[in-house]
Amino acid sequence: MSLITGAAGFLGSHLCDRFIKEGYHVIGMDNLITGSLKNIEHLFKLEHFEFYHHDVSKFVHVPGELKYILHFASPASPIDYEKIPIQTLKVGSLGTHNLLGLARVKKARILVASTSEVYGDPKVHPQNETYWGHVNPVGKRSMYDEAKRFQEAMTMAYHNYHGLETRMVRIFNTYGPRMRLNDGRVVPAFMGQALRGEDLTIFGKGDQTRSFCYVDDLVEGIYRLLLSDYAGPVNVGNPKEITIKQFAQEILKLTGTKQKLIYKPLPSDDPIQRQPDITLAKKLLKWQPKVDRAEGMRRTFEYFKGLSKAELNEKEHFSFEKYARK
Ligand code: UDP
Repeated sequence: MSLITGAAGFLGSHLCDRFIKEGYHVIGMDNLITGSLKNIEHLFKLEHFEFYHHDVSKFVHVPGELKYILHFASPASPIDYEKIPIQTLKVGSLGTHNLLGLARVKKARILVASTSEVYGDPKVHPQNETYWGHVNPVGKRSMYDEAKRFQEAMTMAYHNYHGLETRMVRIFNTYGPRMRLNDGRVVPAFMGQALRGEDLTIFGKGDQTRSFCYVDDLVEGIYRLLLSDYAGPVNVGNPKEITIKQFAQEILKLTGTKQKLIYKPLPSDDPIQRQPDITLAKKLLKWQPKVDRAEGMRRTFEYFKGLSKAELNEKEHFSFEKYARK
């Protein structure tokens, strides 16, 4: 039996699919603030899937045995965590603490989702796991970055002090089907704009870089890490780096739109460059990304093309207000 938190989110839902495929009984948990049941509705008919609507920042109870816990619950885009900063801090800290406690009681192995944001606006390029990072503790991204840094420290403490079997993945920019259209991240933002016939918004001059990994590659890396015996943090991402401007041009070509690129101010603390050094993952997990950006973006575009007109024009950012009123 495996527990996956953030199950209704982008990565969580793909992990549920993979674990079901591998023959596990999966309990998916989500408070549905930023996640959507649409991402997992195809799993509800399966005997080996259960869904718990729960906020992991509160005490987590799961009956029976648990072999693996994957903690993927968290807002994960800059506008999400700016909108719900306290929840973001709580899920990375209190939520992680609850799940580490649960793992201890169940004698389960736990893998926590960390992030390239622990490196902040990096002064070392590409980033490898020995780099300590360059993070603003009170900046626009601090609620996410510092929660994730705390999460890593807490997870290491449970490993060292309690001997818990822990795994830690540092996830770099990942894209694919089921990204939330309005989460403000660059891939759904550009896809939505292209499909609505709007100009693509570049923040800053667009010379900042990112390295985009297709979701299936990421899930494979995570699965291998879980089964490995390595407790330290491991970068998983695609090292192929591109500027945001070049990326926007690729999207215009892929979607066949005649729109322009328009420029908006660069948000503060937006990292200038980001590229994973995956030497460790290659050695340890015998893993490296297989899906190139052209193919991954084609598959992603197919997904976004399948959204209804109403979904494409949906302005609501996410359902937090609805959730909060209850
Ligand atoms: N970005 C952009 N236009 C948009 C959305 C994002 O130019 O409409 C830029 C953003 O400033 C950042 C990069 O794209 O430099 C990646 O943004 P995203 O939010 O996807 O991820 P992160 O900044 O966390 O890597």
